[in-house]
Amino acid sequence: MISYTQPDQDGHFGQYGGSFVAETLVHALDELRAAYDKYRDDPEFLQEFAYELKHFVGRPSPVYHARRWSDRLGGAQIWLKREDLNHTGAHKINNCIGQMLLARRMGKPRIIAETGAGQHGVATATVAARYGLECVVYMGSEDVRRQASNVYRMKLLGATVVPVDSGSRTLKDALNEAMRDWVTNIENTFYIIGTVAGPHPYPMMVRDFQAVIGNECLEQMPVDAGRQPDYVVASVGGGSNAMGIFHPYINHEDVKLIGVEAAGEGLDTGRHAASLNAGHVGVLHGNRTYVMQDENGQVQETHSISAGLDYPGVGPEHAWLKDTGRAEYVYINDQEALAAFHDCCRSEGIMPALESSHALAYALKLAPTLAKDKIILVNLSGRGDKDMHTVADASGISL
Ligand SMILES: *Cc1c(COP(=O)(O)O)cnc(C)c1O
Repeated sequence: MISYTQPDQDGHFGQYGGSFVAETLVHALDELRAAYDKYRDDPEFLQEFAYELKHFVGRPSPVYHARRWSDRLGGAQIWLKREDLNHTGAHKINNCIGQMLLARRMGKPRIIAETGAGQHGVATATVAARYGLECVVYMGSEDVRRQASNVYRMKLLGATVVPVDSGSRTLKDALNEAMRDWVTNIENTFYIIGTVAGPHPYPMMVRDFQAVIGNECLEQMPVDAGRQPDYVVASVGGGSNAMGIFHPYINHEDVKLIGVEAAGEGLDTGRHAASLNAGHVGVLHGNRTYVMQDENGQVQETHSISAGLDYPGVGPEHAWLKDTGRAEYVYINDQEALAAFHDCCRSEGIMPALESSHALAYALKLAPTLAKDKIILVNLSGRGDKDMHTVADASGISL
């Protein structure tokens, strides 16, 4: 069993991670690493981060016993970590605040980000507005079309949204464009990455900012549930909500960690986003990890009913947790996620994000196989109001 939870000094988690970037970005990453090294344990930085999480985000988010649901399933007790109650409705804001505080200390007045579904773009634009920093968000033009209301949200918050017309006009093209902007504007620009991916130190840094989720659970579960959980289950797109809740539990060796990937229309159809279950080791977004790619190394289009899980790679620490066996990675398809979405609405009065619904769907399969005194803690990474149109469409209802 592994017992260490930090990458080596070049950002390697086993064979994964590292920093695969153009020469021109090496200096910017050195500068970022130095700044993060300086501030990650700085009491004043940590105090400001905690203050913002409390007063702007509304933390701590509660843990909640899904009692009706657990009773009906007749097995393990299901508990939910309520990240859906955060300001802007998901966990992404935790990380955006951390990076924004760092940007300010580094004297960078301009923020860039890339976004697929628009959720990371909205979280970034929110935090940029809160601090009065310029914000530019790159988004594939196909995504701009599909996610019009998030584009409008970002504009309301004062951000500039730049549609990217290259390639398939989706997230992977926006990633490239954001990197290009960063190279060009290194002096005044901070690049906020939205998940535990990117070149070192991003995977470690984003995980550390999101670890507030698991750290709160460590304190809350003994008080509210009487003990720590037996299982911790979270959805995995890039992997930030999962790393955030897993990280503090890694050295609690009897707690099983389960990441749930999006199987879309099924792993055998090729239309999915399950990089760890069906991808291959390669390089994406500046790090070595499992990637959805064809035999020629071309990054493939991903598919999931949940836009936030639609990422062709996965954070390198997950790749390593998979190989070492410390975490297990399973998959849930679109139909199963939709069923869990409806079930959660009716059983608990909580409308979960479709991303989180993947984790819930797995918990629904697992709970009946376990005794009633077992505890499954599910990270409810976000609320589902944003997904109402998708769910209605899938049910043949037009709103
Ligand atoms: C973006 C998003 C995810 C997936 O991203 P991770 O980095 O894997 O956490 C999951 N849930 C919600 C609600 C999201 O917005």
